[in-house]
Amino acid sequence: MKNALFVAASAALVALAPTHAFAEAHEDAQAPKWSIAIHGGAGTLSPDSMTPERRAEYEAALQEALDAGAKILAEGGSAMEAIQAAIIPMEDNPLFNAGRGAVFTWEGENELDASIMDGRDRSAGAVTGVTTVRNPILLADRVRTDSPHVFLMGEGAEQFALERGFEVTPAEWFATEARRQSLERMKANAMSALDVDHKFGTVGAVALDMEGNLAAGTSTGGMTGKRWGRIGDAPVVGAGTYADNRSCALSATGWGEYFIRVGVAQEICTRLRIHREMHAEHAPTGAALASWRDAFSNSVRAHDQSIADEVMAEVKELGGDGGIILVTPEGHALYSFNTTGMYRGRATSDGMNEVAIFGGEDTGSGHTPDH
Ligand code: ASP
Repeated sequence: MKNALFVAASAALVALAPTHAFAEAHEDAQAPKWSIAIHGGAGTLSPDSMTPERRAEYEAALQEALDAGAKILAEGGSAMEAIQAAIIPMEDNPLFNAGRGAVFTWEGENELDASIMDGRDRSAGAVTGVTTVRNPILLADRVRTDSPHVFLMGEGAEQFALERGFEVTPAEWFATEARRQSLERMKANAMSALDVDHKFGTVGAVALDMEGNLAAGTSTGGMTGKRWGRIGDAPVVGAGTYADNRSCALSATGWGEYFIRVGVAQEICTRLRIHREMHAEHAPTGAALASWRDAFSNSVRAHDQSIADEVMAEVKELGGDGGIILVTPEGHALYSFNTTGMYRGRATSDGMNEVAIFGGEDTGSGHTPDH
């Protein structure tokens, strides 16, 4: 596969090199380029199980989050800013299992997890078991920028939040009746979290900005009925979130135990990085470099998709399910999920702007926001 791609990239290069298209491709490659993808959870989703009104609500919520991030990128803002702008409205929206509307623990509480990573320097911040911070993604970022640590838990994380001026948000803000009923149904019928919820509702965003920097963030309430201080993949850097300018920015949703075991986020990013490093060894010097890069960029999309699908297949083999979103340094925004649906959206500087819920709905074009 790798060799085939290299041959394809080289062949495209040879075809382009002596022509006028060479210069045009080079100019295009110089154009500002940004890209963003978001998710609001994956799961057993089918068009028959959702009313048109409910579907419209989800699509509007996804579009709002996507547009908030895309606007920042289109105006030259950073990937780190864009992902936070996209995640915050989803944390505040009770449709998603993050912030307000988070699932309940076995003891009937909402315990929140989040993580964030900056692909420039691989600085990262994460929090778990937080109960009083309205937007855990902001607290995770504060851990990244304003503490000597990466990962804070429970009371300690909340003390840090207080010291850094975060407001204490009352428990009622997070609690919704629908999520409470899910917990009660689970207990009454001895069901699993998945049987009762049919889907994961974690939220996440990944982005590439015009400076070429990547960023990733993920926020969740975890899984309904979680016990004993259970922590899923969402706040675990390398499992639910990863960003490295050399490879990709990735956010996951799904059955966290399996994503931790596979180390999904870092596994995919590492495979993408090694592939790029191998190709860089063959890069020409001088004037041919730009077109070589264009050819590589065109061919690498399919490669990256197949790596993401392979790793998600590993999750499936072990018995887990869920999905991921990722953005690459070349600006490709990709998804991979082994469930029937995933709440998702993506937008790029090339004019792509779409949200989708069920499998096979991605068109590559659609609504264009006002920038
Ligand atoms: N991955 C999350 C967890 O295991 C759940 C989700 O994606 O909704 O906590």
